[in-house]
Amino acid sequence: MQQKRIFISILALCFMALSVILIIIFSQQSQSQKSGKLSIVAAENFWGDIAEQLAGDRAEVTSIISSPSVDPHLYESGAKDALAVANADIAIANGLGYDDFMDELAAASPNSGRTFIKICDILNSSTDANPHLWYDVEHISQVASNIAAQLIAKDPAGSNYYQANLSQFNTSLQPLLTKIDEIKTTYPQAPVAYTERVAGYLLAEANLDVKTPEAFAIALEDGNEPTPADQTTMLDLIKNKQVRAFIYNPQADSQTTASLKQEAEQNNIPIVETTETMPENQNYQGWMQLVLDSIQKALKNTK
Ligand SMILES: [Zn+2]
Repeated sequence: MQQKRIFISILALCFMALSVILIIIFSQQSQSQKSGKLSIVAAENFWGDIAEQLAGDRAEVTSIISSPSVDPHLYESGAKDALAVANADIAIANGLGYDDFMDELAAASPNSGRTFIKICDILNSSTDANPHLWYDVEHISQVASNIAAQLIAKDPAGSNYYQANLSQFNTSLQPLLTKIDEIKTTYPQAPVAYTERVAGYLLAEANLDVKTPEAFAIALEDGNEPTPADQTTMLDLIKNKQVRAFIYNPQADSQTTASLKQEAEQNNIPIVETTETMPENQNYQGWMQLVLDSIQKALKNTK
């Protein structure tokens, strides 16, 4: 019995030693691949895209979550993600419980040289705030300024370059802000329903009136079933045509949301799709433009 226990202990030690050796080999490989550029890892592709637009060719950006077929709320990180965080000069997380794995990965590979940016800290969000901060288009320039400042701190030689990228980025946000204003003035307080709070900030900025019971959206976000009472409220909103758009998150669909969507279609309520992550072949601004266009079109076609 004693011998068996010693054998298991030795085996465990060997395994640990092997893991350490492998990590060292892999991190050395990745250091050499860096070729002098900053290494940035973002938890989600929208933050990665913004970082990439600001850092240009002075950095290599890796985004951990980008697949449109996974629900980011339920993402579980793996060894590849751990390595990316361990080797990063700058790590970017959304915060607010959306990507807690980033805190865990950062804690597992302490590195005083790594800058850890949390978007919720930049925006001074309260801990119970809607975590979908990237839909807060009116505050994205604040995020961009902060990321640019961190890039300059890490790589002062690129200061002018980062500043120029930042001002180009801010200019590119203008059409989005104009569009938000247009919707705000043309359709003030237009009633809409959503399955999740994904586009919550954007809808508030466009002065739309979300009729969905908050507990309904939060239940779905957490992967739970909304209460029957809230489901009935949602169904009635649609059946009685009390909303002018049904805003749907295809990345986290369930039987409940699918049947509501079907009901909306049958009642000629336009469907607006708002995904969690940035679609392929899009950048942040193009994506937000598509969402705003789709909202505007829905409101134009309904009364
Ligand atoms: Zn979500």
